[in-house]
Amino acid sequence: MIPILFAAGAERWDAWRDPLERSFREVGVTADLSQDHAPDAVRYIVYAPGSEVQDFRPFTELRAVLNIWAGVEHITDNETLAVPLTRMVDPGLTEGMVEYVTGHVLRHHLGMDPYITGALGWEPRVPPLARNRSVTVLGLGALGGACAQALAALNFRVTGWSRRPKELPGIRCLHGEEGLTEALSAAEILVLLLPRTPETEELMNVERLAVLPDGAVLINPGRGALIEDAALLAALDSGHVGHATLDVFHTEPLPAEHPFWSHPSVTVTPHIASETRPETAAPVIAENIRRAEAGLPLLHVVDRQAGY
Ligand code: NDP
Repeated sequence: MIPILFAAGAERWDAWRDPLERSFREVGVTADLSQDHAPDAVRYIVYAPGSEVQDFRPFTELRAVLNIWAGVEHITDNETLAVPLTRMVDPGLTEGMVEYVTGHVLRHHLGMDPYITGALGWEPRVPPLARNRSVTVLGLGALGGACAQALAALNFRVTGWSRRPKELPGIRCLHGEEGLTEALSAAEILVLLLPRTPETEELMNVERLAVLPDGAVLINPGRGALIEDAALLAALDSGHVGHATLDVFHTEPLPAEHPFWSHPSVTVTPHIASETRPETAAPVIAENIRRAEAGLPLLHVVDRQAGY
């Protein structure tokens, strides 16, 4: 029996227990999920931020930590962690993000708001076709890549940007600082799906926001830290950025006094773009532990130097 500790919040255990048990059975791993293991017996930790486990040193037999979230900024610099760390790539999480992003892109592309509120009345404003609308996605990983491809399937002209060169069918893929300027200057609608790392922190500052076309819309389901809030507010006030739909913030919950709440050109959603679904994520964890036990390389290993 392989002792596995669920250190991803006691309040989540009920939702995860059955899917994990089923998934381990399906991949032929005999897991001990009893949750009363001595630290020096635990072989794998299923992990989430805010976990009761912050010091990994007592876990002397630990072989890997499997984070249940896609983002890992809360753990990459934990110096007590000396074993591989994996992040979550979950089909359900990806599907949810694709739905959030395409929904919010279409809202702005179609100019739905004034018809929903009735503000325009009978004033026809026929939206352009998606084929004539440029959308840029910063971050072409599991989530950004899937969103870029879903938008391309709807005929949008999609530009994507990543750290390393990349090729994705139907997407103009750019990288590096020069690529970023080109990607931003094409972004009538900009989607941020980068991880939070030292390199991406406040990437969207005064200078980079200035590169966007006038009236551009920004959608951020990535991380709040990707944006310099004061710079975005100034760009919204001047109209240079036409609207911002923000799901993630420097501080969460977004403090009641934050100007984003009352700004007429901001839509706040409370970090609901997507989330890990136990039903689709448990098989990913089980498969990774099966691989580790079989001496195969783990999937979705975090490069702690790069921070994601
Ligand atoms: P991945 O690690 O799969 O992809 C990250 C992408 O960002 C990669 O394309 C990577 O480039 C690119 N990137 C990273 N650093 C840089 C950089 N310095 N310059 C340019 N590109 C960079 O992550 P996911 O797609 O799975 O997740 C992305 C983020 O989404 C998560 O980190 C999390 O913050 C956020 N998230 C938000 C949720 C929500 O509900 N709001 C839910 C889940 C996740 P390369 O391909 O070259 O490595």
